[in-house]
Formats: sequence, C-alpha cells, structure tokens
Amino acid sequence: MRSWSSPEVPDLTVTGPVVRIHDTSSGGLVETRPEGPARLYVCGITPYDATHMGHAATYLAFDLLNRAWRSAGHEVAYVQNVTDVDDPLLERATKVNIDWVELAERETELFRNDMQALRILAPDHYVGAVESIPLVIDLIVRLQEAGAIYQVDTDLYFSVTADTDFGGVSGWSRDEMLRIFGERGGDPEREGKQDPLDCVVWRGKREGEPSWDSPFGPGRPGWHIECTAIALEHLGTAFDVQGGGSDLIFPHHEMCAGEAQVAEPGQPFARAYAHAGMVAYDGEKMSKSKGNLVFVSALRLSDVDPMAIRMVLLRHHYRSDWEWTDEQLWAAVDTVTQWRKALSLGAGAPAAPVVSAVLAALAEDLDAPTAVAAIDEWAASTLGDTAHGLADNSDPDAAATLKPVLDAALGLLL
Ligand code: ZN
Repeated sequence: MRSWSSPEVPDLTVTGPVVRIHDTSSGGLVETRPEGPARLYVCGITPYDATHMGHAATYLAFDLLNRAWRSAGHEVAYVQNVTDVDDPLLERATKVNIDWVELAERETELFRNDMQALRILAPDHYVGAVESIPLVIDLIVRLQEAGAIYQVDTDLYFSVTADTDFGGVSGWSRDEMLRIFGERGGDPEREGKQDPLDCVVWRGKREGEPSWDSPFGPGRPGWHIECTAIALEHLGTAFDVQGGGSDLIFPHHEMCAGEAQVAEPGQPFARAYAHAGMVAYDGEKMSKSKGNLVFVSALRLSDVDPMAIRMVLLRHHYRSDWEWTDEQLWAAVDTVTQWRKALSLGAGAPAAPVVSAVLAALAEDLDAPTAVAAIDEWAASTLGDTAHGLADNSDPDAAATLKPVLDAALGLLL
C-alpha cells in the first residue's frame, strides 16, 4: 500500500545518546541495541473514521523513537499496517451505507494527509491487511503444522497455550485477561473453544461479508495474525520495538507475540513492547463509541498550524494518559510564535547545551516535555537578552545550530 511522503531529516553534527525505552514486558527501561537498522513495527489504524488526537499522540510517540534512533546514528526500518478489513470497518460501512473498500480508502487517505501535515516520518512499508492475506495464510499453515490451530465451525483459532511464554508481554493475570478480552474484540464465551482466551486467526465467510479463498475455506484474517504476519515478513523475529497505544497491550500485542513465538520457536517476537498513553476529552478517553473525538483533519481545516498541534502532543510524555483541551492548543500556538521569533534573530543564548539537553531527553524514554522545556528556556532567555541588548555569552549561530535539531529530533519545522 502507498505510504505518505516523508519529511527530510537533516543530518546532525552531533550524535545522540543510546536510546532507552520503557518495555511493558519487562516493566522497566531497556537500552535498545539495534543490530543493523533499528527495526520498528507500529500497529496502524482500522480506517473507518478520521484520525483523532489519540491516534496522533501514538504515532507521534513512535515518530520520536524513529527520530531518536536516527539522531543516535542508526538507520531505521519502520513498518506499519492498515487493518483495511475487520469487523468495525464492515459494521461502519453497513451503517452509513457505503462500500467498505471505498470507506477504507477514503479514511486511509485522510490519515496519510494528517500524518504528513504533522511531519510524522513515513513507514518504509505501509501494509494493508487485504494485500497481506497470502502472508496470513502461510503463517496459519505453519501454526497448523506446529499443532497450534483448531477449528470451531468454519473459523480457525490459535491455541494460546501453544506459546509457553503466553502472558509475557502484558504480565497480566489470567483473570485480568479474561475480563478484558471480550471488551477488546475477543470472544471468551464462544462454545467449542479449547481455552476462552484463544483468538480467531481465520474467520470463515459470513453472508454479506467479503471473503477470500484459502486452504481452510473462504474467509478473512483475524486481527492479531495480520500484524504478526506483516511484521515477520518485513522485519523478521526479535525486532527492536513493537509499538502501539496502551489499549493494545492485551489482547493484541500478547496474541501477536504468541503466534510469532509458536511459528518461530526460540525467538521473541519483539525485544521490547512500548505503549503510548490514552488521550481524553471532556473527561473521558477519546473513543468512537463515546463520540468525544478531536480530529486532526478538522483542526487543519480550520487553519490550525500543524506545528502547534505537534507542540501540544510534545508537551505530554508519551506514556502518560492526559486530556486534550483547547487552551493547550492556544498555548502551543503562542509557544510556536515565541520560538519562531527567537529563532529569527539568528544570534541568541548558547545553543550547544540546549542541543545536548534535547537529544539526551529524547534518548531517555522519549522525554519530549523535558526537551521542549529546554527550548522554552532558551527562547525566553534569547528574547529577554535581546530586549536588553545581546548578552556577553551570546551565541552568534544559535538559530542555525538549533533549527536542524528541532527538525530532526522533534519534527518541528519552524
Ligand atoms: Zn497490530
């Protein structure tokens, strides 16, 4: 599938530190040690509605990881999927009486435009579920050969007990898993399953639903196996980071890992699993079912500077849950104006320590708020000094030193 066009990343004259990130599986910060290009898989959208601020926050988080790795001197191999056939998409298409393919294409295109406006680096492989069906079928066959697949009516299930490490991504108890599974697309109560936590990998054809031929009869892929198949194909096993929102910890990332670890025994699926917090609005987590969504595209249409949207997101640590307010957007518009003003002066407060602070903050679990605070301080100092004449220690090349770092590390083009 076509990706979006990626902004250029300027080469930096300084190298950032080794990148550490919080790994849900081990429960702490881990040092990433890419061998060859750093390999990143981030779970993509199900394209049935426009990109809301919760999505933007997640993709920005992993954009910062991508950029931190690049600043540290690594190449990055980045893969993202699009779940362009799944229950929520088909349900929405039926509800609004539009062809599901058309709905998926329209919303995917909107997502690309939103990502491009926010200057999110594009994945090297942007891969749809539909185009990956042959990969999914191959993977199911391998899992069958490993004895990890069984049939209920015309559907195929993955047996979670086949992975001896099952539970290792989330660290959740079985009770917690059982409680949440049904709320997030699972069917713990279905009769005929060997274990209530087993997940569908092939959903046999239903009347009125699209289907594809397979050795197991006509049907379509389950959600989790789509990501497993795409990640294994494009990144292999033991890739550096699988990322997504914290609502993907279980079942999605747990199931992806389980399937991969049965297909490729002895190798972890990913070395680290990183999760972004949830964004609320009007007191509740932003979600389609609640209707409390702030859309990136709607803000863009009302001429909000995408760099100000990006600034709001950067003000929050990616792992925190937070609430979007319009006041934060207006404050970010002011910040962008101040920074632009300070950068337009050319000379300013010394830039080298700010560069170090920004790169160090981002390498330490993508701490964008600390990086932003360092630049706030530089801008305030630069504008304050200018008001009183240049300070003795003024840096004649401050703006020329800082601008490429703001661009490369934070994705801000000012
Ligand atoms: Zn996924």
